Amino acid sequence: MTRSSEDQRIRRLRPAKRSLDAWRPIGVQLEEERNADGELATSLTIFLTGRECPFTCVFCDLWQYTLDGPTPAGAIPAQIERAFEDLGEPPAGGTIKLYNASSFFDDKAVPRSDWPAIADLLRPFSQVVVECHPRLVSDSCGEFAEQLEGRLEVAMGLETIHPEALPRLNKRVTLGAFERAASLLSSVGVGIRSFVLVGTPFVPEIETVEWAVRSVNYAHQHGSRVVSLIPLRGGNGEMERLAKVGAFCPPTVKRLEEALDGALLLDQGVVLADLWDAESLEGCPDCRGARIDRIDRLNRFGGSQPPVACPVCDPPE
Ligand SMILES: [Zn+2]
Repeated sequence: MTRSSEDQRIRRLRPAKRSLDAWRPIGVQLEEERNADGELATSLTIFLTGRECPFTCVFCDLWQYTLDGPTPAGAIPAQIERAFEDLGEPPAGGTIKLYNASSFFDDKAVPRSDWPAIADLLRPFSQVVVECHPRLVSDSCGEFAEQLEGRLEVAMGLETIHPEALPRLNKRVTLGAFERAASLLSSVGVGIRSFVLVGTPFVPEIETVEWAVRSVNYAHQHGSRVVSLIPLRGGNGEMERLAKVGAFCPPTVKRLEEALDGALLLDQGVVLADLWDAESLEGCPDCRGARIDRIDRLNRFGGSQPPVACPVCDPPE
């Protein structure tokens, strides 16, 4: 893909990239998560090292976990084996997520020649989640699914359905492209997970919760049984520039909680709020910890959890 002037401008603002070992995963995370059926299950995420995503979204900071060149053949299976070794015991069912900070179905990021070895390593798992840009979703997804013992779910960044913000995210995706990808996945029996942003640039701060909930609703309507809410943060240079010109306001813990509550009220599927970097989210010093705990309970058990009463943020009337 050729770099547009906008891509080049965003890339110039990035801080220096670390150099990474193509044969080691970035990290592993073991947690309990509700699956597409709403059941709490063990979920193992392996953050893989691989080729950088060819797209240049304004909000992305995942490029720092990527290689400058193509992922070498054999490296992804080697990283998965290494991750299992690091865990100390053999994997025991549940969900495995292979997140490569790019698209799994980009042949330069995950060489197709590695699929059989990957599928073999994933044999113990009942569900496999990989991520992919909607434009790179193709018949390959169904072909990979056929090689797996467990069920495949493809996670796609919907980000937002806000009509002005979506094109300005420089993701080069349209709702039409998302719908095409979603219906292709559904037609071959592959599950869909969507990422929806909270604190989306170019969406007025006061509307960020409303647009996140509308986007979750849209994702459900297009077959996504699991939606993950991603609170945005600065750190990539471009987000700092957008904050300065008033186009980005980092979401608080309370905003993330409001978006999750609103999305759960839709009651159309599983909605999770990403707490991966919750410590960096701003919030009221009196209640941010209690709100993070409540979000964690909503993630695990869904439904209604008693609200956090804070005399500072919710003063009695
Ligand atoms: Zn408070």
